[in-house]
Amino acid sequence: MSAVIKNVLIVGGGIGGLTAAVALARRGIRADIVEIKTETSVYGVGIIQPGNALRALDSLGLMQQCLAAGFPIEQYRYFDAQERELATLQLMRVVDADTPATNMIPRPTLHRILMGAAAEAGVTVRFGLTVDTLTTEGDEAAVLFSDGTRGRYDLVIGADGIRSQIRKLLFGEITPKFTGHGVWRFTTARPARLDFQAMYMGVGLKAGLVPLTRDTAYLLLVTNESENRWMPADRLAEMLRDHLTAFGGMVAEAREKLRDPKDVIYVPIEEIELAPPWHKGRAVLIGDAAHASSPHIAQGAAMAVEDAVVLAELAAAGGDIEAVLNAFEARRYPRCKFVQELSRKIGHDGNLSDPELCRARNERIRRDFATPQPRPHELTLSEPI
Ligand SMILES: Cc1cc2nc3c(=O)[nH]c(=O)nc-3n(C[C@H](O)[C@H](O)[C@H](O)COP(=O)(O)OP(=O)(O)OC[C@H]3O[C@@H](n4cnc5c(N)ncnc54)[C@H](O)[C@@H]3O)c2cc1C
Repeated sequence: MSAVIKNVLIVGGGIGGLTAAVALARRGIRADIVEIKTETSVYGVGIIQPGNALRALDSLGLMQQCLAAGFPIEQYRYFDAQERELATLQLMRVVDADTPATNMIPRPTLHRILMGAAAEAGVTVRFGLTVDTLTTEGDEAAVLFSDGTRGRYDLVIGADGIRSQIRKLLFGEITPKFTGHGVWRFTTARPARLDFQAMYMGVGLKAGLVPLTRDTAYLLLVTNESENRWMPADRLAEMLRDHLTAFGGMVAEAREKLRDPKDVIYVPIEEIELAPPWHKGRAVLIGDAAHASSPHIAQGAAMAVEDAVVLAELAAAGGDIEAVLNAFEARRYPRCKFVQELSRKIGHDGNLSDPELCRARNERIRRDFATPQPRPHELTLSEPI
């Protein structure tokens, strides 16, 4: 199968899909998006953008807008549940010496920036639409949309998230794997002293506080869960308040402000562990569709953005489609696997239930990070993509 990629369909208008559309457009490749949601909405809270995510966005001219709308962070601080300090890590500046190490940004704001960039680049986003069938016909991917219309493309990108329909069409049913953890989040006022990311290492629980903007922050809590289920919507605030009684300091202060269950978002944490190929014929998966990770090192969206940049670079270079997509997977799989495995390990260590093991873990954090230094994985992820 040959040659030039000029016309691409992207299924899914989330972080990966929108970034891919912009990255392709920057290289002169036309991309259209279909998004199953009927309108441009994303659900709340924030995204942590570590240095490697900022670098990838900078390559598309989108970093400055994110920095202007977000909150810069230079430190990651560990505390025990009562806010006794265990260690302070100095986050790594990846882009250059003058660019913040990490940026915190509200999710809807990031979505607005990406939607704006896609519109400016001439990308069309059609809402309330998905792909029902996908076949390879000669040198094209032939698609039947859910509204009965058809299309033909040089390449189809499945950027449709952890429950990807495109993954199912290519490889059959692959059920996301439950990790045994759930994450609770709610947006609150930013305590004036919170200009860093704070992690509170409790027993069987890990809480965090993350600034989002000058005025807002979000609280997160990771719990051990025996079942992969959603929590009753009307009890979310009460349940989160119960869990948070274990914590002091700024977490306890935030707990006092928590009243309305509608302010709380709970998600069970799942992963997609899929070794390449991530493609078949003229269709390829990116982002969570290919490699959804647990969020403990805040790299899922970063990996989706990097996927988009690398795929656009390789697609623009052209050549045999099979070779392009194999090269994409060869560049991305080891890095995404590294993120998944490390995040899983950090998730496990963060939620140990045995008090003795927790005490030993907290001592280890104190000892290993006695001097300010980057988080260990940052060095690996600062390497060129
Ligand atoms: C609790 C939590 C916290 C996180 N925090 C961070 C963080 O701080 N930093 C970070 O880097 N990552 C974080 N992540 C990970 C991050 O959210 C994901 O990795 C990222 O959103 C993946 O982007 P994506 O575009 O692949 O998928 P998504 O963002 O899920 O987008 C998929 C899009 O496809 C659409 N879609 C779905 N099905 C179809 C279909 N059949 N047809 C058409 N469209 C479809 C969806 O509506 C959606 O718009 C977190 C994840 C969780 C669960």
